[in-house]
Amino acid sequence: MIEKLTMKTNTEHCDARETLEKTSLYKTPQRIAVLDTLISSSVPLSVNDILKKICTQQKINKVTVYRILTSFKGKGIVREIETARGISYYEISCHHNPVHAHFSCRHCGMLVCLDPLTVSQTWEWFTRPRNFTIDHITITMTGTCHQCEGTLNCNSTADVVNNT
Ligand SMILES: [Zn+2]
Ligand SMILES: [Zn+2]
Ligand SMILES: [Zn+2]
Repeated sequence: MIEKLTMKTNTEHCDARETLEKTSLYKTPQRIAVLDTLISSSVPLSVNDILKKICTQQKINKVTVYRILTSFKGKGIVREIETARGISYYEISCHHNPVHAHFSCRHCGMLVCLDPLTVSQTWEWFTRPRNFTIDHITITMTGTCHQCEGTLNCNSTADVVNNT
């Protein structure tokens, strides 16, 4: 099953400072550090992941990271991915990282970004002019990853969660 999943591969990135300039948020060192971490990551990150990556250079705590992510989410520069295990992951939302579905393993929590082209119908919703604007969509497929399949003897299920 894992062979069919495609990881996104981005070589180009947005600049954290430029991205913050486009919002009305102040360019604090902590905001730049959180945004930089998300921009340079090829996988979505949890609050703990972000904290681990930046705590060596920044005096920052979990509450501050949460608050920064909430403000970024409000400005539409990051997306939140909720997983079956109740942990939220965050990824950059820009033209380098167009909206796409995710696969989440319900056993180990592994999260994979899927190729945006595989959700062509979703893409059509975004590109066809309508009398309303969609700025966020969540599609997370949940099941059992390749690694867990080897250690668990259970059937995988696929849920498609589609909100807002
Ligand atoms: Zn970008
Ligand atoms: Zn797994
Ligand atoms: Zn993703």
